[in-house]
Amino acid sequence: SIFDTIELHNGVKMPAFGLGVYKVEEGEQLEKTIHTALDLGYRLIDTASFYQNEEGVGQAIRNSGIPREELFITTKVWNSEQGYENTLKAFDDSMERLGLDYLDLYLVHWPVKGKYLETWRALEELYREGRVKAIGVSNFKIHHLKDLLSHAAEKPVINQVELHPLLSQVELREFCQQNEIKVEAWSPLSRGRFLEEPVLGKIAAQHGKTPAQVILRWHLENQIIPIPKSVTPARLKENTEIFDFQLNQKELEEINGLNKDQRFGADPDHID
Ligand code: NAD
Repeated sequence: SIFDTIELHNGVKMPAFGLGVYKVEEGEQLEKTIHTALDLGYRLIDTASFYQNEEGVGQAIRNSGIPREELFITTKVWNSEQGYENTLKAFDDSMERLGLDYLDLYLVHWPVKGKYLETWRALEELYREGRVKAIGVSNFKIHHLKDLLSHAAEKPVINQVELHPLLSQVELREFCQQNEIKVEAWSPLSRGRFLEEPVLGKIAAQHGKTPAQVILRWHLENQIIPIPKSVTPARLKENTEIFDFQLNQKELEEINGLNKDQRFGADPDHID
């Protein structure tokens, strides 16, 4: 069900599916989106200091009346905030905007060259202090992870990366699995860019589902945590209705066959 969780390597349980709120404007739209989502059973909310809506996220979850421990809130340290001291400060700022006394998951948003190891030391410190229940990274390639793992005291629990059927990240997923790092998918629907793909349409018709639901189900079956974004109530609901069907091996392979290693977002090697 939508309340399914996965266990991170440090024992923390995290929802297997969530809501991303990038480009959701603070104010009425964000408030409504989060309320609709929470009513539908979403419990994981993915924001970032870069999204400039942490305050609105904090307000909406407080107004919802859902007990804090049932929610799983992720935010991220932005590129310009990286480095040891800067990250500690950025975390305080994010927490103040969110109005929370602990965070569930804090991520290094991008592997900023020459900085991400120092940034990671700050995340380890925040984790040891208990201010955040789990720490992870985003947009790390295998070489970034190898570098981090060889210097870190704490392993990241998660790597959140661009991942959808056109960019299925098979090698990265394999590496993460070997290292007990869960994979979370941003742009899991590729922002709706290839929902007309005939293979998806055919599979969707066989299950009485939509192409978006088929893609999200493909993520779940591959133990990938998708965080689709929508502000449209009907789509928010549609995106949750993925726990009552299964893709068979042949269908999963057909979707795997759509991969083109096609990135729409930035290349993590070109961040500084
Ligand atoms: P997404 O794949 O979730 O696509 C969202 C868009 O797809 C919507 O705006 C809408 O146009 C469309 N859509 C949603 N549901 C649909 C449906 N059922 N049918 C048809 N169209 C539908 O892309 P995203 O917003 O880029 O990614 C999701 C979340 O991932 C973000 O909100 C953010 O939280 C996170 N993210 C993280 C990073 C990072 O660097 N870590 C980067 C980008 C996004």
